[in-house]
Amino acid sequence: MISDVFCKIITGKIKADFVYKDNDFAVIKDINPQAPVHLLIIPVRHADSLEDFLEEKDNELLGKALIVAHRVAHQVGIAEKGYRLIMNEGEYGGKLVPHLHIHLLGGKKLGPKIVR
Ligand code: 5GP
Repeated sequence: MISDVFCKIITGKIKADFVYKDNDFAVIKDINPQAPVHLLIIPVRHADSLEDFLEEKDNELLGKALIVAHRVAHQVGIAEKGYRLIMNEGEYGGKLVPHLHIHLLGGKKLGPKIVR
């Protein structure tokens, strides 16, 4: 049984602020925001990482992640001025939660794009 924090949020065992949810993705507010808007796009199906999306049948779902991100950016009013999407992957990428997720950051002019 998978029990990472995002699975617990998706199944309602841990509370979070949801801004969007459908059968494939949940979008929640990050608990430790790094920008005025800091959301996490999370697949409902547990997947550790992109390693779990290497099959042809996953192309559509992965593409949908970006569409959901952009739709939600519109929903929260940051699409026009712009935003940033980030994925941290593995130890060197600085990933902390072992459940695929994309950070959606915006609401101000963001800092340098490549961080150390
Ligand atoms: P990572 O470093 O894995 O890419 O980012 C994980 C993100 O999940 C972090 O920005 C962290 O603040 C966020 N996070 C960790 N635990 C929780 C939680 O319980 N609730 C919410 N809403 N965000 C969380």
